[in-house]
Amino acid sequence: MDELTLDAAICSDYERLLKESQRGLVAWRERSEEVSRFGLQGKIIGDELQKLQAVYATAYHRLEQHGKTCLLCQFTIGLEEVDPPTSVFISPRRELPA
Ligand SMILES: [Zn+2]
Repeated sequence: MDELTLDAAICSDYERLLKESQRGLVAWRERSEEVSRFGLQGKIIGDELQKLQAVYATAYHRLEQHGKTCLLCQFTIGLEEVDPPTSVFISPRRELPA
């Protein structure tokens, strides 16, 4: 008989969505930091940042929806008390040069 590993209990869809949203967040953050470090400004930069934020928001939304509908995830995540990471959305870097 094969041994059951704990890894098997982690939903692979969830993992994929989590990675996607994390990648989106990192890309958005890194760009925001570059923008403020180099004092970049203008409509193109603003649009670019907005696009990166949208990519992240979409990925995060998918992750959230998945967590609500996936039984495996509800079982796995339900075991830990997790605070919803909404704070990420409340404090986006809005101190960009006007
Ligand atoms: Zn799942």
